[in-house]
Amino acid sequence: MAQETSRAVGPIVLLGPPGAGKGTQAKRIMEHYGIPQVSTGDLLRENVNLGTELGLAAKAVMARGELVCDDLVCNMVRQRLLQPDTKRGYILDGFPRTAAQAGWLDALLDHELFDNSRPTRAWPIVISLDVDYNQLLLRITGRRSCPTCGRIYNVHFQPPREDERCDLPHGTKLETRNDDRLEVIQPRLTAYQEQTRPVADYYQRTGRLISVNGDLPMDDVTDQICRIIEDHHA
Ligand code: AMP
Repeated sequence: MAQETSRAVGPIVLLGPPGAGKGTQAKRIMEHYGIPQVSTGDLLRENVNLGTELGLAAKAVMARGELVCDDLVCNMVRQRLLQPDTKRGYILDGFPRTAAQAGWLDALLDHELFDNSRPTRAWPIVISLDVDYNQLLLRITGRRSCPTCGRIYNVHFQPPREDERCDLPHGTKLETRNDDRLEVIQPRLTAYQEQTRPVADYYQRTGRLISVNGDLPMDDVTDQICRIIEDHHA
């Protein structure tokens, strides 16, 4: 796929349960359209690693597989979206995750972030990745990431060439996310059912939700997402 780096795209919201492939697809869309991936999970993990005030507040909540409170997450997202690299558009991955966050995002796009210097559309393209439950479990338990370059693997579906080592020349040992442990997976899926499903319902009610079958091969899912984006801008 040739990269496109000139026109405005999105904003795009990727919805779906943990393990649906939001991060993987967001990275592919980011590369294709040259717009940044704004992953609230990654931003929070960065804060935890840096030991910031936000990171200290979020660490224990994340380790339990629960959601960090709306105020902290929304503030963090506002700061990130004000960065100049989001002017042509961005992909939200893992946000909004509660009905309050979805309402907050609509208000932000309506009032604060849409000015003449930003060619992005006010309303996001909302894409939901739907995945079978057993597939989700395999995706979460098999997920490994490289702490050096961020590349994501899955020991069941896309194993690295050498066991537990990144394929790139640095060959860093791969890591399992703290909250991908079995005992944390169930609370994360419960948080999704109870708090994030209403977000999909909210977008559905307002006619903005487009569902994609996330069980399809990765390339097919990417093609479908690109088609949705193209149709939206046609
Ligand atoms: P993720 O990488 O998207 O699976 O997120 C990892 C963890 O970060 C989640 O289990 C939550 O604890 C926290 N988190 C990420 N995004 C949000 C959000 N939008 N609202 C609240 N908590 C979040």
